[in-house]
Amino acid sequence: MDRYAVIGNPIAHSKSPWIHAAFARQTGQALHYEALLGPLDGFAASVHAFRAAGGRGMNVTVPFKLEAYALADRRTPRAEAAGAVNTLAFDEAGILGDNTDGAGLVRDLSANLGCAPAGRRILLLGAGGATRGALLPLLDSRPAALTIANRTVSKARELAGRFAGHAAGVPLDACTFNELAGERFDLIINATAASLAGELPPLPPGVYAEGALAYDMMYGRGDTPFMRAAHADGAMRVADGLGMLVEQAAESFALWRGLRPDSAPVLAALRRLIDAS
Ligand code: NDP
Repeated sequence: MDRYAVIGNPIAHSKSPWIHAAFARQTGQALHYEALLGPLDGFAASVHAFRAAGGRGMNVTVPFKLEAYALADRRTPRAEAAGAVNTLAFDEAGILGDNTDGAGLVRDLSANLGCAPAGRRILLLGAGGATRGALLPLLDSRPAALTIANRTVSKARELAGRFAGHAAGVPLDACTFNELAGERFDLIINATAASLAGELPPLPPGVYAEGALAYDMMYGRGDTPFMRAAHADGAMRVADGLGMLVEQAAESFALWRGLRPDSAPVLAALRRLIDAS
């Protein structure tokens, strides 16, 4: 049976084995998918050992996405732009590195939430790995404008400069949280790690345009402080990142198996599972 795995540290919490098992059942694919705890000083050795034992591909999560980028022999354009890899595919030619996080985000917004980025004014909060993975797919979706805001503004500016060549006419800029006062956005995406610590990115009031969606990439812990504050500040809708998780997995599955699972019922079932736990 073809073997796949997700590697991270920690990894016990990962929903990826459950998601890929559901995709495999749904599409009638015979595969085994497991969770591997990667040693902090032995990521590359773990990947090589899994491949040598017959592994066909891996998902990569915190803290190994940069090491996975370095390990890949060749990379997709979206992985190249992100500078990080969350999906490895093994074949005779070597190790292919892809980044499916941003495509998963865009698909969740478009297919599950009815909020395709095209034509919208987007605010992306944070300048870490999740933002880097999201930028190219978001820009490719032709928003009206995209602003990156970050606590350490130099990192946001560095990213805006790095992705300027991919913007193709989409206004792309970077600023501090304070500089957002008076601005309004149709879609605000929290890609900071603030929610992990139960904290709130310091957005000024009044940034949500009429009908706006507030999206937190964090998932699995109910409404986050960002989601609650967005609701109070006038966001019409709020969403967490569970759909992004399922959709990035569907992108990886499609890369490995050459067919795309129907992610909607898997997302609905995972949501029920999490709500019941
Ligand atoms: P990183 O550690 O790479 O980036 C952290 C970012 O958050 C930095 O920009 C940092 O700002 C900012 N930040 C941290 N704490 C605060 C705070 N209290 N207030 C304001 N800004 C803060 O994290 P990732 O990019 O890897 O992950 C970000 C989030 O995205 C996490 O919640 C993660 O779970 C989620 N995620 C979800 C995925 C999904 O499938 N749904 C996939 C990938 C990530 P500074 O630069 O100033 O330090």
